[in-house]
Amino acid sequence: MTRFSAWTVFWNGLTGQKGWGRQWRDPEPKSHYDVVIVGGGLHGLATAYYLAKNHGVTNIAVLEKGWLGGGNAGRNTTIVRSNYGRPGNREFYEESLRLWENLSHDLNYNVMFSQRSHIALLHSPGAIDAAARNYNTMRLTGTPDAEIWDLPTLKREVPHLNYSATARFPIMGAAVQKRAGTARHDAVAWGYARGADQLGVDILQQCEVTGVKRTEDTVTELETSRGPITAGKVAFAVAGNTSRLWTMAGLGRLPIESHKLQAFVSEPLKPLLDQVVVFGVGGAHFYISQSDKGGMVFGGDLDWYKSYAQRGNLPMVQDGCEAAMSILPCLGRVKLLRHWSGVVDMSMDGTHFICKTPLSNLYLNAGWNYGGFKASPASGWYFADLIANDRPHERIQSFDLKRFERGIQIDERGAGPDPKLHG
Ligand SMILES: Cc1cc2nc3c(=O)[nH]c(=O)nc-3n(C[C@H](O)[C@H](O)[C@H](O)COP(=O)(O)OP(=O)(O)OC[C@H]3O[C@@H](n4cnc5c(N)ncnc54)[C@H](O)[C@@H]3O)c2cc1C
Repeated sequence: MTRFSAWTVFWNGLTGQKGWGRQWRDPEPKSHYDVVIVGGGLHGLATAYYLAKNHGVTNIAVLEKGWLGGGNAGRNTTIVRSNYGRPGNREFYEESLRLWENLSHDLNYNVMFSQRSHIALLHSPGAIDAAARNYNTMRLTGTPDAEIWDLPTLKREVPHLNYSATARFPIMGAAVQKRAGTARHDAVAWGYARGADQLGVDILQQCEVTGVKRTEDTVTELETSRGPITAGKVAFAVAGNTSRLWTMAGLGRLPIESHKLQAFVSEPLKPLLDQVVVFGVGGAHFYISQSDKGGMVFGGDLDWYKSYAQRGNLPMVQDGCEAAMSILPCLGRVKLLRHWSGVVDMSMDGTHFICKTPLSNLYLNAGWNYGGFKASPASGWYFADLIANDRPHERIQSFDLKRFERGIQIDERGAGPDPKLHG
């Protein structure tokens, strides 16, 4: 497999781009693996990569019912940040951001991580005080780049927002994380797939798990669309389909609901917005950035009804475009190019699960919603550690299913210090 470098890019440029081979194999399924990971999204692929790289487990299969990145991995708005407030979440997301900062080098694959700043607009003195408290907490607990900007600073950095004093929600300042930004979601999936494949992992696309056979406390076999597969250990990383797999394993109900989350992209524009900007006040919930191709990429709230449909709908178009017009009226005549939806697995406190399950050889990675893209490196890292060592690392001890029984939720709505400061 080609190792990417400035030299290989230069050489292939000279020789008609004929030297690029396949980036990962397309193997036939084996009947048995040491570890089978169900779900070829970011979390499944990252887990396979770190299991092989950090723990030397290489007899692994990743089973994906469709194609790599066809789920939420390839549908999100790609925002990466670590401005979380709750103990446990804070350290986890900061660690994930640190992994992002070296990910392209680690994978030898350009994931186009662009640390362009995450700017959450503030619209009242109370919001500024609350953000200052939360961003000071970030600084005190290991995130050095938390800043509060006053209005003159914000106007200098992002001049074309709607600064009208008569706006329904006048802009008064912003909470900023400069190391935050965006990445290319497909590239992350492909980079992890390529990295895992190089270490011997079998990535099996078009391989749907249709049934789970078990004894009282162990998974014995997975029924798949490409034949039965047995495994020493089984890991679920299927995002919006978690409840379905959980039911197949006969495990009852999970504290998870599957909701639609939509995203939108406009026609390409000349460079307009260098940062990720978030607007969330008075019922609005909106985040926007500009892709490298020029499209304005934006998203908002969940559809708020439960569904497995991966399609958009017009009420959310209206919602998103109204919010866009409130803060960036210059977008008024821009055409919308595409919109789509993914199915996110919302947990009841907004925080994820990386944990063991009632079955001794089954492990769960789920409950990702707004934070699932940014979390994928740390999620894969610690899920791999859990599977390899059969005990949770102290970093993920609070992300278990029992936290609801204990009454110790990590109540963050998947959002960050303020539910409205995210994306
Ligand atoms: C519109 C939208 C915008 C978002 N924006 C952001 C953002 O800006 N920042 C952020 O951090 N997060 C964001 N997210 C959340 C993030 O994308 C998800 O939390 C994350 O991608 C989920 O993990 P994943 O990539 O592993 O999931 P997926 O990519 O959904 O992977 C799960 C895989 O499991 C497969 N699967 C399901 N059932 C089976 C089965 N029975 N057998 C085999 N395979 C199966 C699916 O086909 C799928 O490929 C957004 C999500 C959406 C939908």
